[in-house]
Amino acid sequence: MSAQDSTEGIVIAIDGPSGSGKSSTSRGVAKARELRYLDTGAMYRALTWWMLSNGVNVNDADAVTALVDTPVITMGTDPDAPSVAVDGRDVAAEIRGRDVTANVSAVSAVPAARERLVRTQREIIAAARAESAGIVVEGRDITTVVAPDAPVKLFLTASPEARAQRRSREVRGDVATTQADLARRDELDSNRAHSPLRQTEDATELDTSGLTLDEVVALVVKLADEARDR
Ligand code: C5P
Repeated sequence: MSAQDSTEGIVIAIDGPSGSGKSSTSRGVAKARELRYLDTGAMYRALTWWMLSNGVNVNDADAVTALVDTPVITMGTDPDAPSVAVDGRDVAAEIRGRDVTANVSAVSAVPAARERLVRTQREIIAAARAESAGIVVEGRDITTVVAPDAPVKLFLTASPEARAQRRSREVRGDVATTQADLARRDELDSNRAHSPLRQTEDATELDTSGLTLDEVVALVVKLADEARDR
């Protein structure tokens, strides 16, 4: 699966913390260039939802590891209607709940959980590259672990205030609580031993604080078009 193989679709890898604009940007770029779209955070959330629903103590890494392969997680990659199902049940709403948000960083720190989901993510990417013009993949370790050979690698950032404003609108929560929650998850996601959120030197940093969504999408589409023409 070489990034240079022109017969295969392109991979656009986008990492960054919550509220940096990853999801809206990724979907916008995928729609603009008829690419598939994969939200890897939704996969960690789906696994967390299943663990919590089945009474698993998510702070017990051995308990999480023992059951990591049990749920079947199915991702729909249409950017106009992305979907996530666990054992055939649509869990798109449930995985955005407070419980899942509070516990997802614990599950995503378990190496076996990451190995399982990274394997699935690479399968989805390979299928999209074979069957379509390519895929936009967003998460925390896409540029570093999942698709380090992607020809377009971006690290999105935004000020803590801008991120909290955006996220609190999405979850209809108050800004101060959301900002505290983001800071807690940043801390956990950046300091875990296995595949922490970090920026590689070859990823382009894009601070989205003062930009509109359309401006960010236009910038990324330009980078994607340039990469395809190379
Ligand atoms: O992107 P989102 O905020 O929905 O991600 C939820 C959580 O999933 C993150 O806080 C992080 O713990 C985990 N995650 C991850 N690796 C990814 C995507 C998400 O560890 N590639």
